[in-house]
Amino acid sequence: MTKYLTPKDDIKAMRTNKSIIDIVDYVNNMFKTAIDMWASDIHVEPTEDFILIRFRKDWDFLIIDKVDKEFTSAVVTRLKVLSRIKIDENKKPQDWKIIYFYEKEKVNIDIRLSTLPTKFWEKVVMRILKQDTSLINIQALGLIDINLEKLKEALRSTYWIILVAWPTGSWKSTTLFGILKNFNPLEFNISTLEDPIEYNIDYVNQSQVKSEIGYTFASGLRSLVRQDPDIIMVWEIRDKETATLAVEAALTWHLVLSTIHTNSASATIQRLINMWVEPFLLASAMKMVVSQRLWKRLCPHCKEKTELSEIQKAKVIEYLAPISEEESLKHMEFYVWKWCEVCNGTGYKWRIWFHEILTVWDYLEPLILKKEPAHRIQEEWIKHWMITIVQDALIKALMWQTTVEEAFKLI
Ligand SMILES: [Zn+2]
Repeated sequence: MTKYLTPKDDIKAMRTNKSIIDIVDYVNNMFKTAIDMWASDIHVEPTEDFILIRFRKDWDFLIIDKVDKEFTSAVVTRLKVLSRIKIDENKKPQDWKIIYFYEKEKVNIDIRLSTLPTKFWEKVVMRILKQDTSLINIQALGLIDINLEKLKEALRSTYWIILVAWPTGSWKSTTLFGILKNFNPLEFNISTLEDPIEYNIDYVNQSQVKSEIGYTFASGLRSLVRQDPDIIMVWEIRDKETATLAVEAALTWHLVLSTIHTNSASATIQRLINMWVEPFLLASAMKMVVSQRLWKRLCPHCKEKTELSEIQKAKVIEYLAPISEEESLKHMEFYVWKWCEVCNGTGYKWRIWFHEILTVWDYLEPLILKKEPAHRIQEEWIKHWMITIVQDALIKALMWQTTVEEAFKLI
């Protein structure tokens, strides 16, 4: 295993590793390195002359090693043995799970493995599912104070729907579990319908749906409400039936947590109306939509102060003026990154979320009842001093977590 990561463009200069002495050690070391680095995925990609080992960390691929093709069979077979999939099957894709004991923290970590037959051999991709949920909580979601307070306030009552709106790749499960972990499962009956179950949480009744046998989110939800639940978490609302059942559950004094695939908080309301959920039921049941985007976080070790251009300055003021005092806008400081070893020359370290939180208060009800489009909901909502996702990102730029350029990519 190479000690230092190589920036992705340097692959041509890398020498192929021809000296693996022990395959078991090599594969173990690969897992260990990936977990140490907080990589999310490991890619083992056979090419004509070598196997490329890449990690995905946040968004970027980091090339870890090039292994001589002589070892292809051994590495792939070792991974198959660990995940107990068929060793002799190489014509069809397979998937299963590896449980890896992470010595450093003395925890088992699930690694979901999938194979795909390719031209040269089978490509193996492994998703690292951190089992340790102790780090997941609402404080860790990086909400700015005003939004964190709003969320905590909404969680004080337990009879409505709170949705996480997510574009693909925004780590919705971390947010959903962060919210769920706000409750003591011994004081409530908490039940979940998940697909897949990514984390284990003690004393929470977690159930895996299986649509192929008719156990869907909708049918599961129908059964779940008969289990005397207080808090119900449904992995995702995709259809009218699930949406309607979720609304009904909320109106009969349950807290329903779920996610919906939309790009903004206001679009979520419109999406539910388009699913033919009755607007008057929705207006009563819906409490909050947390919309989020996952972004790269500026490396704190090589950040440096930057001067904005006049155009950028004007734009920042335009966006922040509705929520800031004029005087404070004059003294804003923003940062950019250099490159350093800590961030492996990427300028980024770890990740960050940008949020917007839409609370359904009285002023939104008439709009929902009239089935007004998303932009009307957005306009009305902004009038009530709510923080849009761009404003949230700019606030985080002031907190050294991102750059102005990154924040404006959200527009
Ligand atoms: Zn750095």
